[in-house]
Amino acid sequence: EVIIEARRIGKDYGNVTALADVSTTVRAGEVTCVLGDNGAGKSTFIKVLSGVHRHDHGELVVDGEPVVFDGPRAALERGIATVHQDLAMVPLMPIWRNFFLGSELTRGRGPLRRLDVARMRAITRAELLRMGIDLRDVDQPVGTLSGGERQSVAIARAVHFGARVLILDEPTAALGVKQAGVVLRYIVGARERGLGVVFITHNPHHAHPVGDRFLLLNRGRSLGDFARGEVDRAE
Ligand code: ADP
Ligand code: ADP
Repeated sequence: EVIIEARRIGKDYGNVTALADVSTTVRAGEVTCVLGDNGAGKSTFIKVLSGVHRHDHGELVVDGEPVVFDGPRAALERGIATVHQDLAMVPLMPIWRNFFLGSELTRGRGPLRRLDVARMRAITRAELLRMGIDLRDVDQPVGTLSGGERQSVAIARAVHFGARVLILDEPTAALGVKQAGVVLRYIVGARERGLGVVFITHNPHHAHPVGDRFLLLNRGRSLGDFARGEVDRAE
């Protein structure tokens, strides 16, 4: 099932062409990897997908209809959630509070006090367990978690609040091998739960084991958009 189709997307910043003619597909239960070095246009591409920037050329098609997002909220309403490198978490706040912090901002489920604390703790624990993280103490501050664990809290949070597509912005970039491996497992877990994942990375070694589709960017242009197994036939 195709969720997002980017068709020949172009984006200019003034007279800088950050993206030209970039196409790819995001399907439920698949991981689309966006690969490229610094300046390739990866950030610009996910800003278009997540409604932060409007594209200047091409078509963004969601659930079969062309869309023009007028902001990140519009993308969220279609279930397109972004997990940024900075994760939008407050390090000194307990894990469970961080987990529900997004709920006011994203899904409009009302103020924190409408759910009781015990219930929020239980939901947080259960959702993390589904991602394979066993944290008995969700009262500890987020700042005490490892980088990989923080990423997984952010991913679990987006999934809990209704994301159908997860856009992960360099989730493994700042991590060592072991923590990167942890995050790669969550990516596979999200795919197994039927989410579409857009995995931005400059590291082909991280993309390779989890990717179903690969968009290769270089200086704002596409070097290819391949399904796994199709790469061998590429020029
Ligand atoms: P990446 O995320 O792959 O490093 P970016 O999307 O950040 O690439 O950048 C693509 C190109 O667009 C780069 O040449 C960058 O300098 C330029 N660029 C990005 N954002 C802006 C901006 N707000 N204004 C002007 N140029 C920008
Ligand atoms: P990232 O590493 O996530 O791609 P950058 O450090 O490249 O982020 O960019 C940080 C912010 O500055 C982004 O919002 C980007 O759009 C903007 N930016 C990047 N390059 C330029 C540029 N050449 N001119 C103006 N803004 C830029």
